Amino acid sequence: MATRQDNTISNIKTLNYDSVIVGGGGSGMRAALQLAEGGMNVAVITKVFPTRSHTVAAQGGIGASLGNMSDDNWHFHFYDTVKGSDWLGDQDAIEFMCREAPKVVYELEHMGMPFDRNPDGTIYQRPFGGHTSNYGEKAVQRACAAADRTGHALLHTLYQKNLEAGTEFFIEWIALDLIKDEKGDINGVVAIDQETGTVAVFQATNTILATGGAGRIFAASTNAYINTGDGLGMAVRAGIPLQDMEFWQFHPTGVFGAGVLLTEGCRGEGAILRNKDGEAFMERYAPTVKDLAPRDLVSRSMDQEIKEGRGCGPNGDHIVMDMTHLGVDTIMKRLPSVFEIGKNFANVDITKEPIPVIPTIHYMMGGIPTTINGQVIVPDLEGPVDEEGLYTEGKIVKGLYAIGECACVSVHGANRLGTNSLLDLVVFGRAAGKHIIDNFSSSDHNYHPMNPRVLDFTMNRLNKLQQSTQGYNAQDVADEIRATMQKHASVFRTQALMDEGVEKLLALQEKVDNIHLADKSQVFNTARIEALEVANLYEVAKATMLSASKRHECRGAHTVLDYERPEDDAVAPNGRNDNEWMKHTIWYSEGNKIIYKPVRKVPLTVDYVEPKVRVY
Ligand SMILES: Cc1cc2nc3c(=O)[nH]c(=O)nc-3n(C[C@H](O)[C@H](O)[C@H](O)COP(=O)(O)OP(=O)(O)OC[C@H]3O[C@@H](n4cnc5c(N)ncnc54)[C@H](O)[C@@H]3O)c2cc1C
Repeated sequence: MATRQDNTISNIKTLNYDSVIVGGGGSGMRAALQLAEGGMNVAVITKVFPTRSHTVAAQGGIGASLGNMSDDNWHFHFYDTVKGSDWLGDQDAIEFMCREAPKVVYELEHMGMPFDRNPDGTIYQRPFGGHTSNYGEKAVQRACAAADRTGHALLHTLYQKNLEAGTEFFIEWIALDLIKDEKGDINGVVAIDQETGTVAVFQATNTILATGGAGRIFAASTNAYINTGDGLGMAVRAGIPLQDMEFWQFHPTGVFGAGVLLTEGCRGEGAILRNKDGEAFMERYAPTVKDLAPRDLVSRSMDQEIKEGRGCGPNGDHIVMDMTHLGVDTIMKRLPSVFEIGKNFANVDITKEPIPVIPTIHYMMGGIPTTINGQVIVPDLEGPVDEEGLYTEGKIVKGLYAIGECACVSVHGANRLGTNSLLDLVVFGRAAGKHIIDNFSSSDHNYHPMNPRVLDFTMNRLNKLQQSTQGYNAQDVADEIRATMQKHASVFRTQALMDEGVEKLLALQEKVDNIHLADKSQVFNTARIEALEVANLYEVAKATMLSASKRHECRGAHTVLDYERPEDDAVAPNGRNDNEWMKHTIWYSEGNKIIYKPVRKVPLTVDYVEPKVRVY
């Protein structure tokens, strides 16, 4: 397939594709593969070489109820995911994902993904937090793993299959903005080539955002430096709102002081969290599954131990994870990267001593609202509202899809279960590709001239930076955003802290708008890219803080101390208020407007899982 250069707009190169995908991570490459194999002309634009996308860092596994090593089926997986989401996930989407899981994992196996094996040749599966057998009875082995490098194996497999299928990659290109026509439909993206500073237009019948997470809005994060929420910023600048952004997952075991992740697979293999007295304290908080409780609960429990004076170290400011009893053989076979991380980032030999850990920001449950097919959908503000004032109807944004961590389907609701993200990438990447193939034909003639003015917005942004003679340093502004988020939207929140956070963030607008780019060169100007990223970080941070400050309850990862939990239950997510708050937040950047839409409560084929208290 040749790259087709069809035209120029204001001397800017225009490339024409059936589909353009922004992001070469697990979700982007799974969608690209579906499309390329279906005969579509596909371009993948990516900030970094595809196999360096954050998916490569995923360690623990991909969830699917294969039942290779314990009694399992998709109904259990469905139930666990609904419960994990604290009943904010949409049950039709969750059913879809859990039912598709075995199929998509076997597809990966057949593509050649090198999973670990059991003696009988089947895929090795390890236990993971919140995944249970028989509706919460005991932990189940559901995480399909390739040692502690599952994302690495997944990404390399998908990259190779894409090369075979003829997907075109634009590597170290940065997408800047969506192109929206007069009708509000999306016609592609404007992007810049880092190597040369060249700007180009990618025109496409369908555009897929697959830009991953935005964990870099926090100061301490397990996320790669590239996770700056660009896709969310692009959507917001095109007038698209973001959903459920108050829900951010803290992973219990970031290396203390470094942020680097130690996979939940450690606890899956038997690691134990201990306080300064050596106590395996999770037994008190989650008597049934103990250290394998979901992440929101474990993170809160750790914080609670520290708060009550049982933290480890001279300052009592962290917890330790003990793997010494697992044995050198298991560690070297199942957790070789964790061993390396221990040595390099904590100077600890995990086979001999416990490693200091702390809850660290890890995953964004919210994102760009989509349907089960990945189509971006926004509330119909002219449509009906129900008796609770919720917007019940949605409008598809034509030509635009979102998949992976940047999207909110919503399968993770208020708290994601480990291994369900890799699953989400492949299930919904594939579904979006299939939907496009089923609804659009590949055509060499779909080019229609664009109004040159579509570029004005982006060119103005670029020129403003290029012509800046004074203003604020991009990194300083980004650091201010991060410090604010870290302080005001952490594991335990209070209304006062969040309200103050909103004020601080809104006061940063002037700085965000007036960044000074000192280095004006064209070739590999990373300072320019960092300056452009600040606008995206800022939108994601505002979405998070404003949505959080308006949700007056505790649910999943959003724990606000003002909204009472029963005294006898210090960390279970009570203070949840289903009567008033079982609804999705929708935040618009313009005017920081917030509206709500209903949670979808009707699964596809099974009965609704009624809400109850989440105990583990
Ligand atoms: C350390 C770590 C371990 C994890 N372990 C697990 C696990 O074991 N199991 C699990 O289920 N989940 C895990 N997760 C979560 C999961 O890995 C991520 O949610 C998932 O990989 C995100 O995939 P993605 O396809 O959405 O995006 P990513 O893999 O993050 O890829 C984003 C892509 O977008 C591109 N991009 C971004 N902005 C632009 C732009 N402006 N222009 C062009 N390209 C752009 C990037 O270059 C990249 O190719 C882990 C996450 C982390 C951080």
